[in-house]
Amino acid sequence: MPQHLLDHSLDELETLFAEWGEPRFRARQVAQWVFNHGATSAEEMTNLPAALRARIAEAFDIAPLPVITSRLADDGATTKLLLDLGGGDAVEAVRMDYDPDPNPLTLSPAKGPEAGRSANAGAHDRTTVCVSTQVGCAMGCVFCATGQQGFTRNLRPSEILAQVLHFARERRVTNVVFMGMGEPLANYASMMRAIRWMVAEDGLNMRQRGITVSTVGLLPGIRRLADEGLQVGLTVSLHAPDDELRRQLIPTAGGVTIDQLVEASREYIEKRGRRVTFAYALLEGVNDAPEQARRLAQRIRGIQAHVNLIPYNPTAGAGLRRPSRDRVRAFQRELQAAGINATVRIERGVEIAAACGQLRTDVMAQGRIPLAVRTSR
Ligand code: SAH
Ligand code: SF4
Repeated sequence: MPQHLLDHSLDELETLFAEWGEPRFRARQVAQWVFNHGATSAEEMTNLPAALRARIAEAFDIAPLPVITSRLADDGATTKLLLDLGGGDAVEAVRMDYDPDPNPLTLSPAKGPEAGRSANAGAHDRTTVCVSTQVGCAMGCVFCATGQQGFTRNLRPSEILAQVLHFARERRVTNVVFMGMGEPLANYASMMRAIRWMVAEDGLNMRQRGITVSTVGLLPGIRRLADEGLQVGLTVSLHAPDDELRRQLIPTAGGVTIDQLVEASREYIEKRGRRVTFAYALLEGVNDAPEQARRLAQRIRGIQAHVNLIPYNPTAGAGLRRPSRDRVRAFQRELQAAGINATVRIERGVEIAAACGQLRTDVMAQGRIPLAVRTSR
């Protein structure tokens, strides 16, 4: 099968077209067709010479990924999408629409802490797409449906972009959060290529600040991201106030310590001038005690960070529980009393299982995707 056009950068397309004896600006024209006009074939690119259209059609795949299923929730304000990657693989994306809301309510997706922080207080239209970067995930977090599925493969840049493009055909996407299936920094090159097209003028032309990368804490990736010269937001998933518990929850956390993550976050803030968010999935009786909140506060004190508490979203077979509302509030209050800015994510899309990896898990359970998707781990 030919390669997908969007696996290539604008530079690469310009070079290629030059090799074909075409003016370089043809690359921008092609990008505009795909990103602005939603073109899904070269034939649609009517301001290109017919011979070039034929050559592009021969060399590249431009088609979007087929939809396996799409589910609505929150009165239509949340859409969860499952796209067919071929070969028995599937990937999830979620769209959340934020309408003008005079109520300064913190809204965010079932697992997207950054997506709707109180920044939308009185905000204008805001459409956030939560994207996946891998089929499954190798990090194995015990509370995460994706982690429990194991790792199948990395997504290509075009497959990450396809998730946003699907929704961008319906309305303008203002924000993208890398909080779907997979660990974005473990698929760094594809993630970065996708981001470059998202923020490119001839691509999706999004604000850099509209993009947030969430990581389980891969240090080299955090440092690399800090050096990209982009104003992209960063969320670091901590989940515990001490390293031993963190390693139990994230078995692959290995030798990376919370202190190292806080230090890498500090560097990110210094280099990029952007606040970092620490995500903390609250699990009853595991990491939700007020005393643990106090210890967490001690460890992250003094840096321009924000904690986003995510009450555990029950995933099949994990045997963990979500803390009561009171307990969640108590944890939040402890952090605030220690001077840490902390919010609790209000869920969206719960009834469509918007937590990462859950739609795919559900659909697989119904036997709609070949079992080959499940990997050996
Ligand atoms: N791999 C990256 C990004 C995808 S996960 C990361 O781990 O940060 C995005 C967020 O969802 C993470 O903060 C993760 O801890 C959280 N999450 C995953 N499963 C969850 C669940 N069942 N309940 C609550 N939060 C969950
Ligand atoms: Fe992977 Fe993130 Fe899920 Fe952990 S929480 S298994 S890193 S997707």
